[in-house]
Amino acid sequence: MTFVLLAVIVQAQGLPQEQFLIYNAQIVDVLTGKIKSEMALLIEGDQIKALGDFNQLSKDIPQSQQLDAKNKFIIPGLWDMHIHLEVQGLEEDNQALLPLFIAFGITTVRDCASDLGETVLKWRDEINAGKLFGPNLFTAGLKLEGKNSSWKGDLEIENETELNLMMDKQDVWAPDFIKITDNKLHGELFLKSIQAAHERGYVVSGHVPIDLTLEEMVDAGFSSVEHASYLNRLGYDQEEIVAQLKAGTLTNAQAGALYKGIFDQQKADRNYKILGDKGLYVTPTYIGGRQIAYGDEENHLLDSMMTKYLTKAFTAEYLKRIERLKNETPEQMKERKQTYQFNISQLVHYQDAGITILAGSDGAVLNALVYPAQSLIQELQIFQDAGLKPIDVLRAATINGARFLKKDKEMGSIDIGKRADLVLLDSNPLEDINATTHISGVFTKSSYLGRADLDKILSDAREAKVRLDKSREK
Ligand SMILES: [Zn+2]
Repeated sequence: MTFVLLAVIVQAQGLPQEQFLIYNAQIVDVLTGKIKSEMALLIEGDQIKALGDFNQLSKDIPQSQQLDAKNKFIIPGLWDMHIHLEVQGLEEDNQALLPLFIAFGITTVRDCASDLGETVLKWRDEINAGKLFGPNLFTAGLKLEGKNSSWKGDLEIENETELNLMMDKQDVWAPDFIKITDNKLHGELFLKSIQAAHERGYVVSGHVPIDLTLEEMVDAGFSSVEHASYLNRLGYDQEEIVAQLKAGTLTNAQAGALYKGIFDQQKADRNYKILGDKGLYVTPTYIGGRQIAYGDEENHLLDSMMTKYLTKAFTAEYLKRIERLKNETPEQMKERKQTYQFNISQLVHYQDAGITILAGSDGAVLNALVYPAQSLIQELQIFQDAGLKPIDVLRAATINGARFLKKDKEMGSIDIGKRADLVLLDSNPLEDINATTHISGVFTKSSYLGRADLDKILSDAREAKVRLDKSREK
């Protein structure tokens, strides 16, 4: 209470907030794709106050508040645009991992709904209030679905009346966007859900039901496709298939079979362009598919995330998935690899068509081997390997996310007046995005965390794992 009062008084008197100067920096401008060399960057509180000459900016800043960033490259903090903080009973496990994102240079995450939705909304508010340490958290809270869906803790609707009731609830929770999925929700009610959310001013993300075309969804106010594999339908006669599904002359199974025929790249490119022009975003989430497709060639039991950071309860589903993988035939594994390779081959086509790419991992308890925090860095490497230029990979993990959430005036790039979420790298990410695996420091939440501070976050996470595992023994 005393602390809160003090903060109010300080603000009321308009005392200057603490300043911090980073100099000699190579600043990566994700907007222009250029590097601003050897500049000084003045931060006040959690905002970038000035960019410019060291002699001018350093005048009133004490030595202890200055950092020589010689030979370091500074990028905006990374955004993981698709995670889930999920599974009831694992609240502590998820919460203990929040600081880990910062240690991986991820200063913002977008939680794409889960059964912990209400808890995650609370965490978001606590992080914003400075009561909980973690990345900036944007969340959908609870997702919209149809009746008796396979998801736990969703908002299930059967008609428009229920849709409006659920949207009234959403307005009270105030999520940062609306997530809609297609397990039991489809057709007209799915389309109406997009419209309702859009009309209430929300950005809308989700899966793609088989009986709607992407174009009609985007026209209704749909902003981002979660999981790029849905876009593969655009290499087929999607319009015709959807029309037949609506007329009842085709079953879902028959439609699914048609989508397994010969993929027409030219047709897909034309369709990508239409959607790119309409401003569609896509979060590919490739890493999960890669982990499974190559699961027979790698021993993930030895991964540091498994052994050091994730609790036994957190990885229980991962282990089951590894076991199930052992039962697959060589043909099945070969097919998985082919599917994965085909999926990533489309990434440059999206980019060329003007579909905006968002970097998101889908890291979560229920997504086997998609490790919180680390998987985003792996996803960036996949983007680069798939042919995206390093600058476009970096944009996918910074400014694109900010634009998607309409936060680009205050976040997502290194500019005066923007939030000081910064990552210092040892090498140039515009030459090789792998530079994001060598972090020397992070500035976020008004403070600078050097390598030692980041290592302390990692060791705290290791201790939390041991403690939680122990508490559940017997
Ligand atoms: Zn997801």
